[in-house]
Amino acid sequence: MSSHSKKVLIFSAPSGAGKSTVVQHLMHMFPYLGFSVSATSRLPRGDEQNGVEYYFLTPDEFRERIKKGDFVEYEEVYKDFFYGTLHSEVDRIYSEGKIAVFDIDVKGGINLKRLYGGNALSVFIMPPAVDILRERLLARGTETPESIERRVAKAATEISFSDKFDKILINDNLESCLKEAEGVVRDFYNR
Ligand code: ADP
Ligand code: 5GP
Repeated sequence: MSSHSKKVLIFSAPSGAGKSTVVQHLMHMFPYLGFSVSATSRLPRGDEQNGVEYYFLTPDEFRERIKKGDFVEYEEVYKDFFYGTLHSEVDRIYSEGKIAVFDIDVKGGINLKRLYGGNALSVFIMPPAVDILRERLLARGTETPESIERRVAKAATEISFSDKFDKILINDNLESCLKEAEGVVRDFYNR
């Protein structure tokens, strides 16, 4: 196992800020990163595949896995929609000697930082303004109007927790945000 095997990188943001875009870019750039595939009880959207973006579970299956103690953490991120980090994913990434990368909601991100302490770097992806989130979610074309409003409604509270993160990356111009994110990963890898 390499010396990086216990490092973890946490990314959180309000929905639509561009977190998945940034994280997926980093995953392609750096082979020493391992993406932690979460479980969720929401339905797949677009061309999402089971075991790639998420493990898609029914609400009953999700509750069963909670009971079995399979989660490092889990949250009901939106009413009736559960998301959770599986112990088995973290173990898999550690055994590959990689740095674990989490794409996780703000509450979960703060909890994981508390759990992993100095081995973790937590990064908050900040939108230039709350209204931009609605525009980006609309442009993404994956959410119903209700889902967009549910997501935007949470944003101000989520942003108020951004000072609990080690780093804040503003995603206004995507290209400069990606460059900055690459720098953050390189520094963390070398530290
Ligand atoms: P999140 O994972 O935070 O919900 P996504 O990465 O899915 O957000 O991004 C939401 C939408 O905004 C996507 O369609 C994405 O292509 C787009 N997007 C991401 N970053 C930017 C940016 N800097 N400027 C404009 N659009 C962006
Ligand atoms: P989405 O439905 O857009 O894929 O995700 C909604 C929110 O759930 C995002 O903020 C995403 O980061 C978060 N999320 C994804 N996986 C997990 C997880 O394992 N635990 C927690 N707490 N949140 C997660």
